[in-house]
Amino acid sequence: MLKHFITNNHRFKPADPEYQQVYLINGMLLGMIVIFTFFFFVNLAFFSLYSVALLDFIAAALAATLLRRFQLSNNVRQGANHTVLLLGGFLIGYLCFAAPHFYALYWLCIFPPLAFFLLGRGRGLIATAVFMGLLTLLLVWRSASWPAASFSVESLLNVALASICLVILVHYYEVSRFEVLRALATQHRQLQRLSVTDTLTGLFNRSKLDEILSQEIARSIRHQSPFSVILADLDFFKAVNDNFGHMAGDQVLIAFAGIMQQHCRELDVAGRWGGEEFLVVCPHTDLAGAKLLAERIRIAVETHDFVHGKQLTVSLGIASFIRDDNANTMLKRADDALYRAKAKGRNRVEM
Ligand code: GH3
Ligand code: MG
Ligand code: MG
Repeated sequence: MLKHFITNNHRFKPADPEYQQVYLINGMLLGMIVIFTFFFFVNLAFFSLYSVALLDFIAAALAATLLRRFQLSNNVRQGANHTVLLLGGFLIGYLCFAAPHFYALYWLCIFPPLAFFLLGRGRGLIATAVFMGLLTLLLVWRSASWPAASFSVESLLNVALASICLVILVHYYEVSRFEVLRALATQHRQLQRLSVTDTLTGLFNRSKLDEILSQEIARSIRHQSPFSVILADLDFFKAVNDNFGHMAGDQVLIAFAGIMQQHCRELDVAGRWGGEEFLVVCPHTDLAGAKLLAERIRIAVETHDFVHGKQLTVSLGIASFIRDDNANTMLKRADDALYRAKAKGRNRVEM
């Protein structure tokens, strides 16, 4: 029920940029109706402050009208302007009547956080400056006749309620800041994952493979440990596309990626190098170790039933890191080996 009301009948969703403002506009206007009505009765019944009671009544009625209007129009900018104007107008009116009494001046501390939150940095600053300017004029004009203020029950109410309002506003400010940061962090993680992932197969993409290759080369040089790469290319894959359609081709690539991942060891990293070519980076692995892994992949592909109901084979080329290698020279050797595997009849591993 409250959620229903506070989001303008679910017009605004948490993901909307204005969501927090909508929440605050509704909350503030509702809060003003409650507080002004409360003070209307208190001022009338206990303190006989008729002019202030009238002001409370007018402000409560205005808050109710603006709230209704905002709920119908869903115009956030207008709602924010109205809320700030109403609060500013009421505070100035109230201070006009009551400034020397009841610690009424204490209320002005809630204006800047509300104005900044609802109007933004620039307009919030302007609104605060105008408000403070008017207030200064008022104080200069009235202060000559100010008696020393005693601390009455109404003073206590003023200080307590204004403090509570301030705490609520600042708390709300912090909550929404936190929400925004959390949403940003989630988006950042998603983007980071997307930037290293091949969308079709879910394996790492080429740019991530490049990065891993450079890291592995640096590590190999530092620790003088072996490492190898395996370049795998499906045989006659174009025929799958030609005979069964591109969608079937995609399904084959996804299945092939699954096989690669299934047969890689924990430290190996498999990724899509491009098209129907895949690369496995095998840290701490010499040529013989890489050959074992490549054979496992070759046999797994050979014996797999792909979705289009046909058998497929794969050719693989292996290269191991040697002194003075860089990523290009290493990949060139793996590519040459792959080319030899194709030339020698496919469905084989070459080094
Ligand atoms: P070879 O045995 O010599 O490797 O023959 P091949 O047909 O596998 O090789 P070729 O390089 O001639 O063809 C590769 C085909 O892969 C061509 C291209 O249309 C297809 N291909 C590349 N990327 C994708 C993709 O993301 N999805 C699908 N369905 N096909 C792709
Ligand atoms: Mg190819
Ligand atoms: Mg191919």
